[in-house]
Amino acid sequence: MRLAVLKERASGETRVAATPETVKKLIALGLSIAVEAGAGAMASISDAQYREAGAEIAGDAASCLAGAGIVLCVQPPAPAELAMVPRGALLIGTLGAMGNEALVQQFASAGIDACAMELLPRITRAQSMDVLSSQANLAGYRAVIEGAEAFPRGFSMMMTAAGTVPPARVFVVGAGVAGLQAIATARRLGAIVSATDVRPAAKEEIKSLGASFIGVEDEESSKQTGAYAREMSAEFRAKQAALIAETVAKNDIVICTALVMGRKAPVIITAEAVAAMRMGSVVVDIAADAGGNCAATVPGERIVTPNGVTVLGYRNWPARIGVAASGLYARNLMTFVTSFWDKEAGAPKLPADDDIVKGVLLTRGGAVVHPNFQPQAAA
Ligand code: NAD
Repeated sequence: MRLAVLKERASGETRVAATPETVKKLIALGLSIAVEAGAGAMASISDAQYREAGAEIAGDAASCLAGAGIVLCVQPPAPAELAMVPRGALLIGTLGAMGNEALVQQFASAGIDACAMELLPRITRAQSMDVLSSQANLAGYRAVIEGAEAFPRGFSMMMTAAGTVPPARVFVVGAGVAGLQAIATARRLGAIVSATDVRPAAKEEIKSLGASFIGVEDEESSKQTGAYAREMSAEFRAKQAALIAETVAKNDIVICTALVMGRKAPVIITAEAVAAMRMGSVVVDIAADAGGNCAATVPGERIVTPNGVTVLGYRNWPARIGVAASGLYARNLMTFVTSFWDKEAGAPKLPADDDIVKGVLLTRGGAVVHPNFQPQAAA
């Protein structure tokens, strides 16, 4: 069976869905691999490295996709490339399926069996395939590094003959995978760190990393027991806004990572809170792709507010650390393929009753099979 690795075409995307390491492992399954020329260039992987690993380099998307039974991608292929994916092929990537019924329908019409890896269930068996976690981890790290770059002081306390430079104060909003990595990174750089989350379990995790917990603890937050946070009530949000505004004004750098699966990101840092921040402070909003946690965020942009606060609202933070992000992403996808590999058939086998398959498989044999995209799910 032939597996194709496409070059990503989305603006700002630096990642690639396979590395020489994963190519070798996929070949060991019995697959032949075609990599589109230049696919790894933005992730510092040359065509020669893929060739050395045993892949064939295809000059363009059409020759890469010809005869492919499996296609790996980071973002969904553009319509022109999608039209070249052979019927019956398995497409695996972060397909941005939630809220995009039209795209899911397109996969079905094209006869492509599409696996949206962002919908992977948060179960132990799936951890090594969890693209959201691997990418969020690196995004959290990168957010702190870019926040430090934009902050015109230092992070750690420095005692010099000319006096002391105080440590930076960092406040992390949302303590999931990205937020916890942001806390750890800011601590390693010497900052004094605090963080907030609505899930009660996050409090101990925040404290175990040496940061202090700041948050509204009431009956509503005590009910946040799932792996993903639910949207909070207007009453909770008002209480949280007051506490956050007070906290933000005392901090130098705010790292925003709060998300609610499948929804717009909650706005937690109000315009008033930003207006009360000191000149030179920085807000890094890695929730910008989902609209952002900060009212001042302009998705895709770096702006400076009238009171001198730099707000980094870049999109696609994993792409800003593309080499590491490609490495982990490629391993996630390779693990998915190997886990469902049927040796005798020499092809992947996705049992319809498997929890992972039920979570990610959008379409099969020309039909939409995912429960979230059935007519009754939309009603
Ligand atoms: P996420 O990206 O969905 O959200 C980021 C964080 O924002 C979450 O911690 C969430 O609680 C928080 N948040 C949402 N609304 C908020 C608000 N109004 N105010 C403050 N914070 C808010 O989350 P994630 O990084 O995917 O992780 C969610 C949880 O799932 C974590 O506990 C993580 O450890 C767990 N997890 C489990 C597995 C597994 O078991 N395989 C894998 C990955 C993550």
